[in-house]
Amino acid sequence: MPTFIDTHCHIDTILERLGGTAEALFECMNPAPEAIIHVACDPKDFNWGGEFLSRKTINGVKIYGAFGVHPLLAESFCEQAEREIFEYLKLPGALALGEIGLDYHYSGYSPDLQKKVFLRQIEMGLELNKPFVFHLREAEDDAFEILRKIDSENLKVHIHCYTGTANFAEKVLSLKGNYFFGFTGAITFDKTATIREAAAAIPLNKILLETDAPYLAPVPFRGKICTPAMIPNIAQVLANIKKVPLDELFKICKKNTEEMYKLSTLNSQLSTPNSQLSTLNSQLPTLNSQLSTLNSQLPTLNSQLPTLNSQLSTLNSQLPTLNSQLSTLNSQLSTPNSQLPTLNSQLPTNPPPRPETV
Ligand SMILES: [Zn+2]
Repeated sequence: MPTFIDTHCHIDTILERLGGTAEALFECMNPAPEAIIHVACDPKDFNWGGEFLSRKTINGVKIYGAFGVHPLLAESFCEQAEREIFEYLKLPGALALGEIGLDYHYSGYSPDLQKKVFLRQIEMGLELNKPFVFHLREAEDDAFEILRKIDSENLKVHIHCYTGTANFAEKVLSLKGNYFFGFTGAITFDKTATIREAAAAIPLNKILLETDAPYLAPVPFRGKICTPAMIPNIAQVLANIKKVPLDELFKICKKNTEEMYKLSTLNSQLSTPNSQLSTLNSQLPTLNSQLSTLNSQLPTLNSQLPTLNSQLSTLNSQLPTLNSQLSTLNSQLSTPNSQLPTLNSQLPTNPPPRPETV
């Protein structure tokens, strides 16, 4: 089985339904993904997501994440949620802002509020230079209107669980941004011919594999709790639609995922410390040979030390004798000075008589 990445799942919700720990879940995933992107889209689940991301790897599976407020939770978007999104997106492994978007499937959710929250989060992601995960459901006209207005080449988007039309996909692909389309188990259902038509129309280099687990388990697991291990069932249907071997489809989707989520950049950042290590390793032989030279000089220096010490002690023992001789000489020096006044007093006080002049 080639390696694959589940680009969109909700591990906390899987665990709520299955029970047990993340370790147990990842241990029994067969086949196991190489990596997963856990999406935290409710502010009350951000904390769990942050802690989950700090695990980095569980049972060999790399853990990445996305943070944002889901359109059906637009009412919980507030300044506090905004601050938290900024904070959580600083975590290593937090790859994208999402899932955000528009969902008009259910009544009772204000489209105006959804649009406002969607736009604000797009502004935030552009400010942070992060890619986006979009959730768009039965809202193609409003979504396209928003994307057409922004129309920025800085917009990099994974439209997750794509259930739109081929026409909408083609319109989005004509915009300046870089758009990818994620397909879930929904593509394997009997009644989803429109999704398969869209997949046929979307170029292979714009397709991503995802489960949206625990939702949308693919055929033949319908009705069960979905896990990332079900990616191959989705991939097989996509391979049939795109008429490529399964291995090839996995390879292309992995490359698309790396491009969408800058995973190769992350990997190269990861390898930088290794390159510093190899520089240090290459300096090691030189440092070792200098150390061994110094070590070899050490016995010679040590053997000279007793001789030097005994010379020092001889000199020290001579010091008192020399000092006492110095003081004797000093006292003799002061003797002539004391005799000088006596000698002076013996000199005649009157000047000698002047000789007679003629
Ligand atoms: Zn989702």
